[in-house]
Amino acid sequence: MANKEPLIITDKHQMRQWSRSNRAKCKTIGLVPTMGYLHEGHLSLIQESQKHTQLTVVSIYVNPGQFSPNEDLSTYPSDFLGDIQKLKNVGGVDVVFHPQNLYDYGQNDGFKNSEREDGKMVSCVENSGMGHETWVRVERLEKGLCGKSRPVFFRGVATIVAKLFNIVEPDVAVFGKKDYQQWRIIQRMVRDLDFGIKVIGADLVRDDDGLAKSSRNVRLSAQERRRALSISKSLFDAKFAAEKGQVDCKELRDSVVQAILEAGGKVDYAEIVDQESLDALKEIKSPAVFCVAAWFGNVRLIDNMEINV
Ligand code: AMP
Repeated sequence: MANKEPLIITDKHQMRQWSRSNRAKCKTIGLVPTMGYLHEGHLSLIQESQKHTQLTVVSIYVNPGQFSPNEDLSTYPSDFLGDIQKLKNVGGVDVVFHPQNLYDYGQNDGFKNSEREDGKMVSCVENSGMGHETWVRVERLEKGLCGKSRPVFFRGVATIVAKLFNIVEPDVAVFGKKDYQQWRIIQRMVRDLDFGIKVIGADLVRDDDGLAKSSRNVRLSAQERRRALSISKSLFDAKFAAEKGQVDCKELRDSVVQAILEAGGKVDYAEIVDQESLDALKEIKSPAVFCVAAWFGNVRLIDNMEINV
């Protein structure tokens, strides 16, 4: 029997109504937030959600609030019909929430996407003229790693996730550990702001050759993709070395940086941090995670490896 097509909801009020009517029937709801261009990493989150709840909502929304004007919002890949087909194939998705613009409060039309005249780093939403001015900041956790080179990123992520939580009102939300810092930030936001939602972290899914699956991989040339394997390969080597007793973080870090540079990549950061606090470590004595961001061509890739010695 063919899988049932998910219901597509684009209006936030209709989304909330759907959730409330199902909660009134004592149904539990899982939310999987995505930016679309779905791959097996996303589908694994859906399967995780299905283990915990009766109904699953997948949101597909490329959030302008987490991009600064010089980032790749306009080239972010999308294939909505392909996504729906994939969700139909995997089955068990009840709703796809696909809003057009969650920052449009009906006061303005146009969406300006240009840099402010004073050159200050702001997000695409601040430039839109639509009057959105409330942001959620998870102050300490958002500072390091990706937060250093993407100063508005986590503010945008935490804010859109809070908005989605308020619209969908799920019992459970599933995030991938592929975006390790993001997962920890959402966990902290949920704790600090008392959202009644259980946050689940799902394991990172890789291609067979080791590359972490990402919607952005499609923008790599064949050569860049081959070279980008240096990230996962060097991370696996570092994990292996740490398990064999090499626990000095500088040495482990140097070997990963060198491998990526030799492959022609540009390292944004390579840091070994505590799994919970995300504080940088000198030596691996407790559960750690080795987080990397690197550029291959015009594509910024992130990857990480949990190390439990
Ligand atoms: P994105 O569409 O890239 O914003 O990702 C939506 C969700 O899917 C986030 O929670 C990501 O961490 C998760 N995700 C993306 N890629 C992977 C992957 N390779 N493995 C596991 N989760 C992933």
